[in-house]
Amino acid sequence: MNAFVENSVHELFERARLAPSEPCGGVRLATAILGRSCIQIVPHRTLPGNSALEWNGTKSIIRVRAGLNPRQLNHAAAHEIGEWHLRRGGYDHADCEDLARAIAAAVCVPRPAFREAKRALGDEIPQLSRAFVVSESLMALRIAECTGLATALITRRRIRTRGPAREWPTTPEGWNELLEAARSRGLVVHRIRDARGRLVVRIP
Ligand SMILES: [Zn+2]
Repeated sequence: MNAFVENSVHELFERARLAPSEPCGGVRLATAILGRSCIQIVPHRTLPGNSALEWNGTKSIIRVRAGLNPRQLNHAAAHEIGEWHLRRGGYDHADCEDLARAIAAAVCVPRPAFREAKRALGDEIPQLSRAFVVSESLMALRIAECTGLATALITRRRIRTRGPAREWPTTPEGWNELLEAARSRGLVVHRIRDARGRLVVRIP
């Protein structure tokens, strides 16, 4: 999946004639491919989610809810241009939505841009998420994808892990034990600031 995602993002940037070493964001990438007027702001309740793609080849329209903050708008446009790419390639499998999500993260934080930002800003989640105009949760997982560091994002509903296969706990008790022993085991624990009740655990 990772190679497919990175490849998709590479193709999107080529098509847009934009450099993945600069974090241009989802809106700029989408408008470079589908034209300036491809993004339409619609009333909040007319969409079931933050955004939707109306497929029409290179004349496709991305509808986004009014009132999204810059991070949400960036991510919504990146997600829909990801779906557009999949749709255009005739990709029609059950994991389409998951793939679009993965492409969105890599569009918002392209690998070459990440490398440069890390050199300039370090690897702190808040600074990097500000620089790329993405949520801290997305940034934490994307850092893991780009660096290969084993990382877990713990939300109230689920736990997402990234990085090399590792024996993460399989029970809530196991996760509690891991968190309690985190410091003595040298794990880095970061409390996500822009969403409630979320933690990131990183194995340095
Ligand atoms: Zn979608």
